[in-house]
Formats: sequence, C-alpha cells, structure tokens
Amino acid sequence: MSRVLVTGGAGFLGSHLCERLLERGHEVVAMDNQVSGRTENLDQIFYHDAFTYYEHDVTKFIHISGELDWVVHLASLASPTFYRANPIKTLKVGALGTHKTLGLAKEKGASYLFTSTSEVYGDPEVNPQPEDYWGNVNSYGPRACYDESKRYGESLVRAYRDEHDLDVRVARIFNTYGPRMRTDDGRVIPTFVRQALSGEPLTVHGDGEQTRSFCYVSDLIDGLLALKQSEVQTPVNLGNTDERTILDLAETIIEVTGSENGITHEARPPQDPSVRRPDLEKARSELGWEPTVSLRDGLERTIEHFESVV
Ligand code: UDP
Repeated sequence: MSRVLVTGGAGFLGSHLCERLLERGHEVVAMDNQVSGRTENLDQIFYHDAFTYYEHDVTKFIHISGELDWVVHLASLASPTFYRANPIKTLKVGALGTHKTLGLAKEKGASYLFTSTSEVYGDPEVNPQPEDYWGNVNSYGPRACYDESKRYGESLVRAYRDEHDLDVRVARIFNTYGPRMRTDDGRVIPTFVRQALSGEPLTVHGDGEQTRSFCYVSDLIDGLLALKQSEVQTPVNLGNTDERTILDLAETIIEVTGSENGITHEARPPQDPSVRRPDLEKARSELGWEPTVSLRDGLERTIEHFESVV
C-alpha cells in the first residue's frame, strides 16, 4: 500500500481520484484550500480509515508528517470563469504550488504526477494535437494566467527531473466532464445542463462552430492511474477523440434532457480556441489506455447527477 498526497483533493477530478485510490487500497492525504473545490465532494470518503484531509493553500510551505510515495498535483483553477476572476491565484498555484509540491516530493523521495492541460497548445494550428506540437499561446492574452502557469509548471517538473532525478509524470488533460462539476463552474457542459434543467435557453458562444472533445471523468481517472503506473517521464495527452461542435453538444443536451427552451447565441470570449482534439496515439501505445464512455452515456450520467443538485 502506498501513501499518496492529492492536491486539489476536494475538487471535481481530485475527489474522484481520491475515491479510486482508496478503492485500490492506497492511503490518501488530500489537500485543498476550497477556492474552487468543495468538501461535500468528499462526503463519501471523509471518515475512511485511510483518508486524511488538510485545508491548506499549496502555494505556501507544505508540511506532511510521515512517508509519501506519490504527490499528485491537481490543484488548479481550471475553469475560465474561475481563472479570469482569480488570475494571480491561478498563476501562483501553477508556479509556486508546483514548486512547493515538487520540493515536498524531492524531500520525501516520492514520485510526482503533474496535471497539465490541453491549454498548453493554446489556439492550435494543428488538429488533432500530438504531444510534440509546441502550441500557439499568447503570453499576454486573456487566458495567459492559466496557460502560462501550466507551461511553466511543465518546465519546472522537467527541471526537477533533470537536476534532481525526480521520478515524474505529466498528464495533459483535455476537456473533462461528469458528476461533481459545479453548477456555477462556467464550463460548457455544466452550464448547458443547468440551463436545460432550469428552463433557460442554452447560451452558445458565437456561431457554435468551435469544437471540443469531451472525456467522461471515470475514463480520465483511469488514464491518470495508467500514467502513474507507467514509466513515461514525458507529457501524455489524456482525453477523448470524439470531437464535436459546441452547437452539436447543445443539440445533444437538448435531446437528452428533453428541454424545450432552445438556444440563444452570446458573444464568444476573446481568444477562445477554435478547435481542440487530443491525439491519443501515445496514451494508447505507452499506457495501453483509451476512453470507453460515449458522450451520450457520459451526458446521461452527468444529467442524472445535476438533476439532484439544480
Ligand atoms: N461555451 C458556450 N457557452 C457557454 C460556455 C462555454 O458556448 O455557456 C463555449 C466556449 O466559448 C468554448 C467551449 O464552449 O468555445 C468550451 O468552453 P469551456 O469553458 O467549457 O472550456 P475551454 O474553453 O476551456 O475548452
């Protein structure tokens, strides 16, 4: 049994990961400062014997007593709504938070998993995006606080690997959805589902011809665990290759929910990427992993969850 620290443990992905690690017999220490994470996400495991929770900001010095085998750094303000409202916090968690958690892993002799993002590719000029595409990112743009903090985080992980021989993994996570996303998260699936369930029209940004590829949360967690178990020290894309236009997504959600409120068009946020789809060849060949949940099934499970909270 190994002991794993999960930063951002009370968040959407963090809470699902903590649960799965406990199921697999690991001891889990979760850390979160609850800026976007919520402890309700941990209700089912809070009193598990192998689970501990610390309320702590990972940009400050981290003390953990006892041994640690893994540090998984998930803490992040990943939603455009949240990072636009907290650009400095977003930069700090990607830079200082990554530095503190790397330092902790080095001190404990632990392995380290960094969760990066498809946003390192910016508004991509190639589609799908393979890991060796360097990206098209504006360092002074409206999404810079998130994109650049993750790019810096990747570089810092690389430096700890080179200079301190730290055992590292880097996941580039593409759009992921599922139960426990916040209804006020601002991202497209929770927003559309909330709107469909509460009698509002779905707010499609622009003409809705921009694309995203959506991965269901259980697939993503399987991918993270496969990466952790591998020996791949370089970035690996995790996501789903089923690329859809936002308009198509809206129509699917309307169909599944039976919503009769239709669609309304709003202005598209500045520098919103036009396309996004992972090239999963590396994940398939090196991790033996690929997603299995269809958009329709994943949406049904997500809608069921939202029906109990909206
Ligand atoms: N989007 C939309 N309506 C909304 C929220 C988002 O049309 O109410 C669009 C957004 O402009 C983008 C896509 O959906 O083109 C995905 O946005 P999201 O914030 O979910 O994620 P990201 O842009 O980070 O991929």
